[in-house]
Amino acid sequence: MSFKRSIAIYWALVLIPTLIMVVVAFRLLRHEQERISREALELVSERGRAVCETIHITVEGVEDSLSASLATIEPARLVETLVLWERTNPLVRNVFVWQEGAPLRYPVPGMESTVEERRFIRRYDSLFSKRIAWESNRGAFSEEVEAYHGATADTLQKASLKTGEKAKRGRQALFDLARPEKSVAVVAQKLGAAPSRERFQPRSGWIPWFAENRLFLLGWVKVAEQGPVFGVELELMTLLSRLGTDLPRFTEPGTGYALVDGNNEILHLSGDAGNGQAPAAVMNVSPLLPHWQVHVFLDGSGGDKGRGFFIVSLILLAILVAAIVSGGALLTWQAHINKKDALQKTSFVSSVSHELKTPLTSIRMYGELLQSGRVRGPEKVAHYLSVIVAESCRLTRLVNNVLDFSRLEQGRKTYHVDRVDLGALVTAMVELHGIRIRAAGMEPEVILPSAPPMVRTDRDAMEQVVVNIIDNAVKYAAEGKRLKFALTVATEGFCELRISDRGPGIPREHRQRIFDKFHRIDTSLTASKPGSGLGLSIARSIARDLGGDLWFEPVKQGGSAFIVRIKKDE
Ligand code: ADP
Repeated sequence: MSFKRSIAIYWALVLIPTLIMVVVAFRLLRHEQERISREALELVSERGRAVCETIHITVEGVEDSLSASLATIEPARLVETLVLWERTNPLVRNVFVWQEGAPLRYPVPGMESTVEERRFIRRYDSLFSKRIAWESNRGAFSEEVEAYHGATADTLQKASLKTGEKAKRGRQALFDLARPEKSVAVVAQKLGAAPSRERFQPRSGWIPWFAENRLFLLGWVKVAEQGPVFGVELELMTLLSRLGTDLPRFTEPGTGYALVDGNNEILHLSGDAGNGQAPAAVMNVSPLLPHWQVHVFLDGSGGDKGRGFFIVSLILLAILVAAIVSGGALLTWQAHINKKDALQKTSFVSSVSHELKTPLTSIRMYGELLQSGRVRGPEKVAHYLSVIVAESCRLTRLVNNVLDFSRLEQGRKTYHVDRVDLGALVTAMVELHGIRIRAAGMEPEVILPSAPPMVRTDRDAMEQVVVNIIDNAVKYAAEGKRLKFALTVATEGFCELRISDRGPGIPREHRQRIFDKFHRIDTSLTASKPGSGLGLSIARSIARDLGGDLWFEPVKQGGSAFIVRIKKDE
């Protein structure tokens, strides 16, 4: 299977499951987000419903208490007691006594009544003129009164379970107000045996009344068949001031509960009203308070719980996908590097074998010629022998390079650093390789400073650096005819040996890469010359190991210069 094909299969195996995972995870997260948001709404709605229930219980308790108290009023002192209630009880706004077929007994219509009383009479005109029946609203009085004492205790208990201690106290205060006078209880006891009551089934009711663009609550009682209908109008402001405690005292951030009347005006607010936002849920408070509603607000952090979860999960999912993809990319990159390495090694083996073959063939050929004894003349013999020596030296250099390369790769190369006269070393090297250089058609030139410097280096290693550079010049820059060795003393504790030729030079894009192992410039010139692409890479590694460096500089007139930097011996 080709390399590209395996990479494509690998990516398909990584990406397809990742994609499926992302799609499934995305859908699950969306689902979860919706569930969390729904739950948050359900939670606040549940609390809102509890608020409605509590308010209902409170109002119901107040109404029942007042009805029961009304029933206990002594008929002989009816108007007097009611007027006293009206004056002293903050829960009572107006009182009335109405006898069917007679004018209103109290408040007295006409100029004798106060402004409020006149408005009261006008408000309930349809009731007092019998256009609307009193019983249009609620059930039989007897059931309610009988149930009252038990029910009140029961409702109080229920309510206190749902709300806090403060709300309970507020409600208790309201119920106390609804039983206005202690004396009423005494009167009730006396009246308990009243024969008229036993025969007549007493009736009562509460009428929610809309007038003047607001709600009024009117409670009425009829205890005797021939007796009057009498009752009270509730002071809603007093009731309202206590209802606030039925809203939750502590709310979650971003949630709010508002008690709203029929005109959409907020009567009580607990928590966050959502800055003009529409309420998340609206519920009717109670049939006892028609059109009053509890608005539940859920915004910002409250409603965003699900969204926050969704975003955090998405970020985590993105991190996971990024990790998978970058891991895959890293593996692909590593596979490319490995493949490149493998290719380089194969080409290295073939080029090294080729390099070994050429000198070996020459040595064998000239050796056999000499062995056959057919070579005539001492000059010829000397020439053949010198070729054999030169080729064996080339073999040695090659083998040295290969060995050095493996030692450097494994970090096993050792150096014997010593004090070395660099001028003498350069001169000796040029002398040693002079024949080779000249044979290639180049003229070596050495420029030394007046006082050649002493350096700290490994002589053999340094020789190998110089030889590799000379080898390249001989191979690639012979046409330039000149090879210059210039030694200078650099200021910051270093010497620099600049070996320059006038050959073809090195194209800009290869100037750094020629120091990479196995890198050869792909031209007809290099193709015709043996080489493994190791010479400069080994030379730079050695120079750096010895505390110096090796780099390339182009020669202005054309050609290459390799600069070896060596540490001075201070
Ligand atoms: P090799 O000579 O075995 O190919 P090197 O690492 O010694 O490997 O050199 C790397 C490449 O740099 C060579 O293949 C050659 O293309 C280029 N090069 C090195 N020295 C010179 C030079 N003096 N002139 C032109 N090209 C050179």
